[in-house]
Amino acid sequence: MEQRAKPHATGRVSRGDITQRVGVEQLEARGVDVDALIDKLVDAVGAEFTTYYYYTILRMHLAGNEDYKEICEDARLEDRAHFELMTPRIYELGGTIPYDIRTFADRAGCPDAYLPGVDTSKDVTGRVTEPYQGSAADILTVLLEAERCAIRTWSEVCDLTFGKDPRTYDLASRILQEEIEHEAWFIELLSKERDGVARPSGHFRRGEPGDAPHSKNRPFYNP
Ligand code: ZN
Ligand code: FE
Repeated sequence: MEQRAKPHATGRVSRGDITQRVGVEQLEARGVDVDALIDKLVDAVGAEFTTYYYYTILRMHLAGNEDYKEICEDARLEDRAHFELMTPRIYELGGTIPYDIRTFADRAGCPDAYLPGVDTSKDVTGRVTEPYQGSAADILTVLLEAERCAIRTWSEVCDLTFGKDPRTYDLASRILQEEIEHEAWFIELLSKERDGVARPSGHFRRGEPGDAPHSKNRPFYNP
């Protein structure tokens, strides 16, 4: 009996060719500019990675506000998880993160989340020279604005990939969900700290700090 032609057995990428990817061919066929997408993803994971670094410093300087430190720790570890979730996708698409971390940090799509009120140009010794004078409200404002930048970034990635690149879209949308939560957390904390107003975020405990429901291939959160 004659076999019917298999519609998906052939395409632009020929049999055994390892220099091209069908996973990329199919995106291009659907109108994705893959080079532009890789660039966008490198900028975006650069922001996650640098945010993880800067949140380490911000968290340290929330000294004494143990509840704020816990929330900051959730956001910090989840941002690291975002870096790790999306970076493999850059490689699948045929890209790489920059070989030089300085290039990577400069490319980050969001501003550096510097410790507020500190002159970083004088920061050459790596030693604490004078007591930190900033307030918790100042630090919470930096945290809040960093989350807002992340929401804008991942929303853009969702727009670029919706209906065309289901894999990148799925990863970006899981990250976006957590960034939206992070914004709500810092609105809650800043609102109370700065204005004395309750604006609940709906935050439930994550289990262990950084135990994020969306970024670890888990559809449901198991405490
Ligand atoms: Zn993040
Ligand atoms: Fe975040």
